[in-house]
Amino acid sequence: MRPRHFETLRPICPVCRAREVSSHLAINIVEAGTDDEITAGILGCPNCGAEYPVIDGLPVILPDVRRYVQDNLFYLLARRDLTPAVESLIGDASGPGSAFDSIRQHVSSYVWDHWGDQDPAETGSAAGNASPGSVARVLAGGLDMISDGLASGPVLDMGCGAGRSVAELAARTGRTVLGIDVSTPLARVARRAVVHGHVDYARRRVGLVYDRRAFGIDIAGRERMDVWICDVQALPFEPATFALAVGLNLLDCLGDPQRGLAEIGRVLCDDGKALFAVPFDWTGHVTAVEGWIGGHSQRGPHGGSAEAILDGMLSEGALSSGGLRKLGPAREIPWHVRLHERSCMHYDVHVVAARRDSAAGMA
Ligand SMILES: [Zn+2]
Repeated sequence: MRPRHFETLRPICPVCRAREVSSHLAINIVEAGTDDEITAGILGCPNCGAEYPVIDGLPVILPDVRRYVQDNLFYLLARRDLTPAVESLIGDASGPGSAFDSIRQHVSSYVWDHWGDQDPAETGSAAGNASPGSVARVLAGGLDMISDGLASGPVLDMGCGAGRSVAELAARTGRTVLGIDVSTPLARVARRAVVHGHVDYARRRVGLVYDRRAFGIDIAGRERMDVWICDVQALPFEPATFALAVGLNLLDCLGDPQRGLAEIGRVLCDDGKALFAVPFDWTGHVTAVEGWIGGHSQRGPHGGSAEAILDGMLSEGALSSGGLRKLGPAREIPWHVRLHERSCMHYDVHVVAARRDSAAGMA
């Protein structure tokens, strides 16, 4: 955690926030770090006494830290110093479907897309002529839809994954950018990339066979970027903190997308901008069907259309969420993630820009 981001963004206690109390967090304990970053320590709420750990440089500012630690214990305690041969043997022995296997696959897929175009060892294209960096292309296409500039203030990258969009946002806006995610493995990759300029990951070839890739990335303005573990549905920030909030492939990964939109609207300043890219790729165990934006109840007035319902959420009317109002027509932009040497998932993501309109209220 960069002290500069902590001081600029002044996070508030999510436990107190749930009780309508705004209490700024303090740095209670610093156990490891430098002047530029705290790598281990404890943040605390002076009002309720809640504590939030800083682990591997990542502050965990969630309403239920105990639940997060219990759910993520394997990832939090996983070693990151395994040598390639030992790692491959552990991969073979733990087998397909193990936690070790799923974390490697997940990280391989997203890191390839986020940073593969910076990897000197990356040659040619993946299955279906996919080339890494599609997340940066989706972001570039979306930012083109915000033509009337940004208010002053920092930028929030929600569900930042492996961090490429954090770097792109910092380069394109020149602002302080905070990436947030709840995935421990991806947040670790993101922080290492944007703060330290280094990417190191196991790239899946086939089955349980992975190739280790390690390379430096040359990105400017690293001091303006940081990555925290926060939940979009309980953002630990005061109202009107951010000028721009970006959520690429975010809304269909939330338990309650409507609550997420309300939180995003809350932390955006008046005339703040929001940008969403959504593949509407719902998963039942993450989002209960009644929370999905479209994709169900095709007998209803929207015929199950996800695009129509999201449009309604970003317009005046009964579905309106977070005081966000759509800016111009949506676009469809290709995005993909690589599974292995012979497989790539291709999507058309629905990209929509919006502005926070204080007159619209916070319905
Ligand atoms: Zn508190």
